[in-house]
Amino acid sequence: MSSRPLPLDPMLARAPLPFVVLDGAGRLLALNAAAARLYRRAGETLAGLPFVEVVDPFSREKAALMIAEALTRGAAHDWELYHPQAGAPPLPVSYTAWRWRSDPAAPFAVAAIGLPLTAAVSLAAQLATTNQQLEGALLQLERAHAELKAAQAQLVRSEKLRAMGQLVAGVAHELNTPLGFVANNLGFLAEQLPALAASTPDPQLAADLAEALAESREGLERITGIVRDLRSFARPDSPAVHAADLNASLAATVRIARTLCPPGVTIVEDYGSLPPVVCAPGQINQVVLNLLTNAIQAIPERGTVSISTAREGEQAVITIADTGVGMDEATLARLGEPFFTTRPVGAGIGLGIAVSMGIVERHGGRLAFTSAPGQGTTARLSLPLG
Ligand code: ADP
Ligand code: MG
Repeated sequence: MSSRPLPLDPMLARAPLPFVVLDGAGRLLALNAAAARLYRRAGETLAGLPFVEVVDPFSREKAALMIAEALTRGAAHDWELYHPQAGAPPLPVSYTAWRWRSDPAAPFAVAAIGLPLTAAVSLAAQLATTNQQLEGALLQLERAHAELKAAQAQLVRSEKLRAMGQLVAGVAHELNTPLGFVANNLGFLAEQLPALAASTPDPQLAADLAEALAESREGLERITGIVRDLRSFARPDSPAVHAADLNASLAATVRIARTLCPPGVTIVEDYGSLPPVVCAPGQINQVVLNLLTNAIQAIPERGTVSISTAREGEQAVITIADTGVGMDEATLARLGEPFFTTRPVGAGIGLGIAVSMGIVERHGGRLAFTSAPGQGTTARLSLPLG
């Protein structure tokens, strides 16, 4: 191993770019002043040193590959190697290396010239910025993906609802015909009852018949009500929409609701001034009646249901608050799910809120509930004006 570097042509020796000559094993045979400055060593101490030792540890593998490629292929272009710097991050240098020998009998050596990429430092900064932008974009993408998934889940839900709607419509339709003749037959029986009672010697039998008939009629009315609910859930009709005085139609609905109130329950009305609201008033009344019914049913013995209206910007807001039992999180989360009810069998079929939400949605409005167990419930129904 030579202890002195080979002399270089003066032109190369003073070239502003680092220039090195390596032997076939990658040891430094010669280097110019620019290279010695870059490697931060006096040229004499560098002779015989493996080139891989003047590069950053992370560039060593690459430096060895560059030398091998220059030896086997004749040249290697644009190999970026880093050199450690005092008090600064390692400096990237782009090397071009080529195979070279002084005469045909001599073994191959490698010559390399480097271009310090001072500009690459700002390139690295740019890269960092780009990287950050990419990360930001990735986060946005993740959010969009999550939103898409939620939209898809919503789609699956509404698809299920549609299928259920069809099923319910079919059942309701099938029920309608037998309901019709049962009602007819009951009517006929009721007409015949006086004659029948007169002809039977058993007064008890006549009384029992009358009672059975009355019960059947009540049952029939309930079934008819349920079928009507099922139909309006499954096949909501689209009635004429017009600008309506909501306060007046709410007052009429409240009068109906009062007839359902047990003695301990009071309904308090507070109507604010509202411009005419473009809606299907019959349907909004149905929603309000459903909400009032639930509110009344939520009150165990004594309590108040308050209904109020107000204009909030471009919205008409109807609020129905009760001092009833309230709802827990689980119940709140399932509100609007068709056939969800906490009432005993026969007391509710769980369509009130589902039907209401459908109506409100078709009006471009919103129906929201706030409630907690023992704290009562507030339903807020907002409809766009106009
Ligand atoms: P249903 O009245 O037939 O049960 P709804 O869709 O009207 O069906 O209501 C669903 C469920 O929501 C009710 O069973 C009840 O548990 C709950 N709920 C609705 N409104 C109220 C309210 N104001 N206070 C307490 N619980 C309520
Ligand atoms: Mg209800």
